[in-house]
Amino acid sequence: MTDGPALDAEATVEWVIEQLEKNPPLSCFISFVGSLDQDMAERVALQVRIQALLLRDTHPWMNFARLRQVIFHHDYEQGIRDASADRPLSPAPTKEAGGLSIGMVFRSGDGVKLVMDEAIAKGLLSEVEKHRDLAVNALRHELCHVHDFDLKLGLMEKHPDAKGIAGFGSYFLPIAESLWDEYFANKYSCGPWTDIHQYSDFLCEVIPTIRADVIAAILTYRVSHDLAALRSVAEAKVRFIAQCFGYAMGTLAATGATLKEHSSTLESCLIKFDLLLAWDACFAALEALDQKRPHWDSVLELKQLIPPCVLLMTAFGLNYRPIVDGAYIEVLYTKEPPPQT
Ligand SMILES: [Zn+2]
Repeated sequence: MTDGPALDAEATVEWVIEQLEKNPPLSCFISFVGSLDQDMAERVALQVRIQALLLRDTHPWMNFARLRQVIFHHDYEQGIRDASADRPLSPAPTKEAGGLSIGMVFRSGDGVKLVMDEAIAKGLLSEVEKHRDLAVNALRHELCHVHDFDLKLGLMEKHPDAKGIAGFGSYFLPIAESLWDEYFANKYSCGPWTDIHQYSDFLCEVIPTIRADVIAAILTYRVSHDLAALRSVAEAKVRFIAQCFGYAMGTLAATGATLKEHSSTLESCLIKFDLLLAWDACFAALEALDQKRPHWDSVLELKQLIPPCVLLMTAFGLNYRPIVDGAYIEVLYTKEPPPQT
């Protein structure tokens, strides 16, 4: 459909029906736990299939073959617990302030499951355009995660030894993964339904709070010398910032704008908190990695994101340097005074 002449509405509907029958993008169950009646559930399920089809039409390399089940649940967290009962540890939705999660993709055997809050299903049926757009954006974002999982699981099957990473890199791989995952999902789900300033505005809100949390942990460390406690705070907080960088950078990459054109407020915020260097390094590394994506050899290609993530950590006051079997962590001097004891 992409390359052909503009089709009128009737021809588009015919094309959608034909594609859904002959070459469906999804072959999994779509189930509902909550308040939707059967007619509403069927309309939502059709919407999910149509959005997957349109995504695949725009990006013909997209593949949802490993998607085993889509679940809409009125109690989203319960939905995740139920759907992941076969896993030793349930995946946890984002709990960071403001980082509300309404959809999650996680591994289940050799495939993946997608759990979404019933609010997305209701949004897809809404009469209000803004609510529909939000729901379409969230659904497409999750479907992009499904494709990304498909790519990574395929690479892991091809190279089973390249699943993990030891030593210095292991401190940063989860941060690099968060950065990549959200960049990829936002970059390829972006469209007229996307609120392109949502995540740059969100970053401006969270950076000062997260910065204050990490500084507080550093100041506590100056008295306690409990490096494990400092690490657990700093690594989780910086991972959340990397996740938010990923959201904002994905949208920025999709629009093709420069940071200044996109949001001078965000640019000023990054400068104020000494984050611009790390931002530029993360963005350049993500774009280079995405260019190379069709030729990835293993999931460890993500290691290329580690140096910019180290820069990001340094900007928050912790300088990690590789040593033989791990990292030497220098806690940098901060302007803020130590707490009164
Ligand atoms: Zn996401």
